Amino acid sequence: MIFADVIVDISVKSLDRPFQYIVPEEMHEDAVIGAMVIIPFGSGNRELKGYIIGLSGEAKFDVHKTKEIKEIVKQGVVAESHLLSLAYWIKENYGSTMNDAIKAVLPVRREIKKKITRMVYPCVVRSELEQILQEYARKHYKAKVRVLQAILDQEDYEEGISYEVLQRDHKATPAVLRSLQEQEVVRISENRQYRNPVHQSGISDRPPVLNQEQQVIVDAITADYLAGVRKTYLIHGVTGSGKTEVYMRIIEQVIAQGQQVIMLIPEIALTFQTVSRFYRRFGERVSVMHSRLSQGEKFDQFERAKAGEIDIMIGPRSALFTPFERLGLIVMDEEHETSYQSEMPPKYHAREVAVHRAAMTGASVILGSATPSLESYYRAQKGRYRLFTLTHRAGGAVLPRIWVTDLREELERKNRSIFGEKLTELMEDRLQKREQIILFLNRRGYAGSVSCRKCGEVLKCPHCSVSLTAHMRYGRLDQLVCHYCGYQTPMPALCPNCQSKYIGTFGIGTQKVEQMVRERFPEAGVLRMDADTTTGKEGHEKILQDFASGSADILIGTQMIVKGHDFPNVTLVGILAADLSLNVGDFRAAERTYQLLAQAAGRAGRGDKPGDVVLQTYQPEHYSIVAAAKQDYMGFYQQELIQRQILQYPPVSNILGVLVLSEDLRHVRELSEGLAEQMRQYEQVVVLGPAPAALAKAKDVHRYIIYAKCRDYRVLRQIKNMLEQYMKAQERYRDCRLQFDFNL
Ligand code: ADP
Ligand code: ZN
Ligand code: ZN
Repeated sequence: MIFADVIVDISVKSLDRPFQYIVPEEMHEDAVIGAMVIIPFGSGNRELKGYIIGLSGEAKFDVHKTKEIKEIVKQGVVAESHLLSLAYWIKENYGSTMNDAIKAVLPVRREIKKKITRMVYPCVVRSELEQILQEYARKHYKAKVRVLQAILDQEDYEEGISYEVLQRDHKATPAVLRSLQEQEVVRISENRQYRNPVHQSGISDRPPVLNQEQQVIVDAITADYLAGVRKTYLIHGVTGSGKTEVYMRIIEQVIAQGQQVIMLIPEIALTFQTVSRFYRRFGERVSVMHSRLSQGEKFDQFERAKAGEIDIMIGPRSALFTPFERLGLIVMDEEHETSYQSEMPPKYHAREVAVHRAAMTGASVILGSATPSLESYYRAQKGRYRLFTLTHRAGGAVLPRIWVTDLREELERKNRSIFGEKLTELMEDRLQKREQIILFLNRRGYAGSVSCRKCGEVLKCPHCSVSLTAHMRYGRLDQLVCHYCGYQTPMPALCPNCQSKYIGTFGIGTQKVEQMVRERFPEAGVLRMDADTTTGKEGHEKILQDFASGSADILIGTQMIVKGHDFPNVTLVGILAADLSLNVGDFRAAERTYQLLAQAAGRAGRGDKPGDVVLQTYQPEHYSIVAAAKQDYMGFYQQELIQRQILQYPPVSNILGVLVLSEDLRHVRELSEGLAEQMRQYEQVVVLGPAPAALAKAKDVHRYIIYAKCRDYRVLRQIKNMLEQYMKAQERYRDCRLQFDFNL
């Protein structure tokens, strides 16, 4: 007898374990790991969907009480068994249900009706077909005559004619066509036509000659690869240093060995340009996978991948789960980007999952960034990843000059506008020269942090060293809260540092910036890119293309505009308030700030004209700003690592966030207290909180967070398992849910 372990497709925590079923004799052949099945479930034998995650010859329970699988869904997509193990690993490490984890690795679970084209081809040479036609005409086989005539009328006789066209335009019935096929006059063939989301023409490019630094990397990684060595590499290269060119050269080698490649990019907005570039180099065997594809398109890309018709899959996070059977390499460009972490359960980080998938299947991983995450750089320093560096821009473009404007001095000079003196001067200059300008508004941290506009002081929690966030109380923003430990204090009237009254939440939107630009530079053409202007499918792309084509002088935007795009005519980037992102209540605030500034600066002077960057800030002395102004990643990394060491944050230590959710605020509070107490039982673990989460309430669901810090990752995983167990016994808190964040 064969038994199957089945995971039931319901997101209910208590059912999140395999249930054993008997595989009936007639299904033995189709019962494979990953198959979708229909099973009777519970006392009512309700029919539910599930997935086989294991097969064995041994019964775990009384065989007479074990139920049988009802059906194996034939058109269900079979998950590769290694993707199922990956789902299991995600569940174990990030704390989600198996069902949610399976959904993450299997974004399309149902077959979507295939597009099939049927063609009718002649089986005999032209002259013979003409004779047959004559004969049919004599016998008055009108329908058959119409079909043969249509074939003969085709411009290219051998190309055949579409079955549908024959039916529609020549009134051919299926019976007539079948009869012609039986008489071996024609042949009907069915071609599976995949939906292909890549619309490209086949212009191929001419690869540049690699520079010395690039060549060293390509040679080293290729040599490893050919020698069967599989590793994780980190390429630290300034923007425009030719990382993508390096990826492409290595990919070429991997494909030449008959293996496949996943190319991850941080967001959909970048798909178009990356795909065009890869298509020009590699042609049709490149495809894309992202959330804006239709279900049918997604399904077909996975089918093509499985069938071995694709060598390179490009896309954001979800492309990581492409079912390649001969995966040789995963490339993750801009590996520091936050978009690589999933915000919905399972809350995994694509970098960690990529490294794990590669290890499971014998592939290598290349991480690339101009501003590597602290994690990756730390691992590279420790020798776990192999580090390579690209120090200058490829193709001769020079790095921009960077000017730092101290906004406190501007205020002293009674300049209250958002444009400091230097920025104004350079903007006038560029408008005159008809070169383009990007104004970047750092919107992270805009909500709620409190700072002094005179001295730059940012109010921080005395226990956690993260910024306090202003909260509404009695309709006024006058309560300051720490989102890590829950510390509260009233909003001071004067700056505790310099006693000025210029203290408060500082916030300005892109709309306001646009208005100010129009007032100050009425003759300039302005484009604005933010969540309001980019609704609709190709919103981003349209604005970026408009700007690239020179339809405006100034582009105003938030984080979206700093990523990856190439605008050769942009010679000035203005960063309006560089330090805003320092003020978010998050231990990664300085890292994010450095990354944003370095990336924004990278937008200037990518063509042959040199660029300028003006970095306006209230905290010119902060190490992340000092380092960004010098484009000094190492300097930043060393300072930041010290902070992480002092406060025991990743990558030096590990942190587990436990999010407690319910509509009942009292339950959330009580349960959080109980959980925190359980967590405090562990030695070597520092527990912070509970406190309201940064997003304290969403859609009427209250959110509290508890943090646990520990050097040993395994202890945190134990805590997660313990809390999951503990929750099972909490009758009173049935309405509450937990979510876990590991090092996010
Ligand atoms: P990154 O991915 O690091 O931003 P890219 O690979 O996109 O860098 O390279 C930036 C620009 O320089 C691109 O236009 C690319 O075609 C060009 N480039 C890359 N390598 C070379 C090279 N060795 N010689 C000349 N141009 C190059
Ligand atoms: Zn002050
Ligand atoms: Zn605190």
